[in-house]
Amino acid sequence: MIEIQNLKKSFIMKAGELLVLKGINLAIYEGEMIAIVGASGVGKSTFLHILGTLDSPTSGKIFYNGIDIFSLDENSLASFRNRTVGFVFQFHHLLPEFTALENVMMPGFIGMGSKRLRYEEIVEKAERLLDEMGLPGRKNHRPGELSGGEQQRIAVARALILEPEVVLADEPTGNLDTATGNEIFDLLIRLNREKGITFVIVTHNESLSRHCHRILKMVDGKLVDN
Ligand code: ADP
Ligand code: MG
Repeated sequence: MIEIQNLKKSFIMKAGELLVLKGINLAIYEGEMIAIVGASGVGKSTFLHILGTLDSPTSGKIFYNGIDIFSLDENSLASFRNRTVGFVFQFHHLLPEFTALENVMMPGFIGMGSKRLRYEEIVEKAERLLDEMGLPGRKNHRPGELSGGEQQRIAVARALILEPEVVLADEPTGNLDTATGNEIFDLLIRLNREKGITFVIVTHNESLSRHCHRILKMVDGKLVDN
């Protein structure tokens, strides 16, 4: 489904070039759940951002279902991203002024052009997702009125509103206590099993990563089997 070929990324700094990703080769199969582990600062987030096309590589290619995504023009790339990829971050990045329901709906508006969802459809889908995430009765709460676990569930619902094929999660339980983190991870596993969504999850939590199909470790700018 996703084929990553000799992916490299460097950042140009005042002090010179910082080579972070040094040639990543990886095939990700449809319906897989992959954990990426590794020390802080090795480039896990950088890799996930590029995989989600939020950033571009210095060299190398990524094919999604055979399409060389970084050869697409900006509009096609944005539309590809909206249709295909969902993101969950360590800090949920919910908008504090908006309700839970509005936060979940938000990508629906951005995606309206490409997916042509009507407003009523977006409301309906967002409500259904909040129910599925175990959050009935929370749709009019603002993020500040919810617990950390509830906020992360809303972030997961938001990632799913455009029905992505793949969800990229960057330390989704990193900011939660163990029990709440386990619940969020269980939720991701259930989504993988029941909806067949492919997951790539960066995590520090070894006991959680063991529930994934594959664990890859980032070492010295490369990914190795763990
Ligand atoms: P990880 O997620 O594994 O902790 P990151 O991918 O965030 O690591 O960062 C890897 C390295 O790249 C770090 O040394 C970081 O300082 C550097 N880095 C990340 N983003 C940028 C950027 N936009 N500009 C310069 N350096 C960056
Ligand atoms: Mg990181």
